[in-house]
Amino acid sequence: WSNKNFSWTKKLEYYNKKVFGNLSFRPNQEEIIDATMSGHDVFVLMPTGGGKSLTYQLPACICRGVTLVISPLVSLIQDQIMHLLQANISATYLSATMEWSEQQEILRELNSDCCKFKLLYVTPEKVAKSDVLLGCLESLYARDLLPRIIIDEAHCVSQWGHDFRPDYLGLGILKQKFPTTPILALTATATACVKEDVVRTLGLSNCIVFRQSFNRPNLSYSVIPKAKKCLEDIDKFIKENHFDECGIVYCLSRMDCEKVAEKLQEYGHKAAFYHGSMDTSERAYVQKQWSKDEINIICATVAFGMGINKPDVRFVIHHSIPKSIEGYHQECGRAGRDGQPASCVLYYSYADYIRVKHMIISSIMEQTPPTSGCNHNDVTNSGMVLETNTDNLLQMVSYCENDVDCRRLLQLVHFGEKFDSTNCQKTCDNCLKVRELVEKDVTEIAKQLVELVKSTRQQFSLAHILEVFRGSLSQIVKKHRHETLRLHGAGKHLLKGEASRVLRHLVTEDVLVEEVKKSDLYGTVISVLKVNEAKATDLLSGRKIVTLRFPSSS
Ligand code: ADP
Ligand code: ZN
Repeated sequence: WSNKNFSWTKKLEYYNKKVFGNLSFRPNQEEIIDATMSGHDVFVLMPTGGGKSLTYQLPACICRGVTLVISPLVSLIQDQIMHLLQANISATYLSATMEWSEQQEILRELNSDCCKFKLLYVTPEKVAKSDVLLGCLESLYARDLLPRIIIDEAHCVSQWGHDFRPDYLGLGILKQKFPTTPILALTATATACVKEDVVRTLGLSNCIVFRQSFNRPNLSYSVIPKAKKCLEDIDKFIKENHFDECGIVYCLSRMDCEKVAEKLQEYGHKAAFYHGSMDTSERAYVQKQWSKDEINIICATVAFGMGINKPDVRFVIHHSIPKSIEGYHQECGRAGRDGQPASCVLYYSYADYIRVKHMIISSIMEQTPPTSGCNHNDVTNSGMVLETNTDNLLQMVSYCENDVDCRRLLQLVHFGEKFDSTNCQKTCDNCLKVRELVEKDVTEIAKQLVELVKSTRQQFSLAHILEVFRGSLSQIVKKHRHETLRLHGAGKHLLKGEASRVLRHLVTEDVLVEEVKKSDLYGTVISVLKVNEAKATDLLSGRKIVTLRFPSSS
């Protein structure tokens, strides 16, 4: 897209400078704008802080009509509109919490022939529930005044992502009703599976995908075994490395947030808690204090963060294991948005893993009330949601238990990126460890893993294969009767993380391939391990030796 000369190219440059006050475009911004202005559906994966907003706000300024933006949170929307109004761009939003008369006035303006608004923001449930809004959009469309539809935080469409919002599922209606209006879907987090799910749910056609590296060079990563005195450790870490600086401590539960905040206050930090059970005004208050630097540490559940634009967050601490690598990457991404160095520290214990696992199970049970026999669909679906969530969590466990490989590499592999770990420049704990690594022959383990994948008929995920190999007797393992396989438990004696490293190595070497599997019955997407026969034959016949480097003590 870069070398084409479009009729709007000059105008873009002008607006970027004069209206948005930017000296130039950031990577991909201009290409994305060209693609959407050419009328294509576009899917954008760009890390937080990459500059996604400009890719639709700028086109909105130079196109005739009103650009519709779907965004998940009213607080996010208000923040965006404030910035737009400051730049003299006319924008508004509609939400259920607004006075009826105010809504009426906005609708009247939208229906008028010379509507002044360039952007209209709405939350997804508004699209699903408001016939008045749909009618208004239909009228704009009929008058050729609906140039573009934006789906912000598009990963919320997918149940397989870490932040599913049911209201996003209804957005498929937009493509049906407004087939000639291009859609631009934006997210800072999506694996191949999530992307496919989003594209399918929204009904995007021949969509152009932009994907930017997820590496955040200014963040450092480490995982620390979680001890009983974890809070003392956290206190010490902050005082030694980030005294009086701004940071977030992510906690698992509401209780944890309050407990951790209280303890940190005792240690003399300006800390507060933030979670979903507080009412809106309490949360807004904490957020305000934080942005004004009146408090500098927020102990929060994952409810805190979306739309947090504080540039000088110097550390993100995970007090417990996060639910997925995607979620972890995004939560860490709230640190160092100003490009300056920032630390991400995760406190890991196996006990927390068990705790999170139970939380996942009970939250899925709550979401799916027991059905009366005939609704087989729902039961199967919740089973798959459970498997996906468990898989996500198990990947996180492997990440934490891996004390050899570069943390950046481990994260980026997850997003399908290649990364040379020498570029980490020792900014993760594993790269920093100065210790001797010795080469070890793991060919036998590799063979067993490939055979195991074959014996499960190549229908299961990496995390599941690992569970079976380690001899797990979990509900899911039993459901598929995998405890009866010959190689069930064959890897029991191995060190923590060893099997997972070998398995992942086989994927990077293309002996095994992670393939997106579509379940046509329910339209769900998960990724499963397949055997690449050509390469696997070399391994199984003994022509290929697999070695990995391990710390010399093992
Ligand atoms: P994202 O939505 O991808 O997290 P934003 O759209 O909020 O990122 O942009 C992050 C910051 O970068 C904002 O402060 C924005 O003004 C700034 N920004 C975006 N594009 C440019 C650019 N081309 N030049 C300079 N600053 C930019
Ligand atoms: Zn590293």
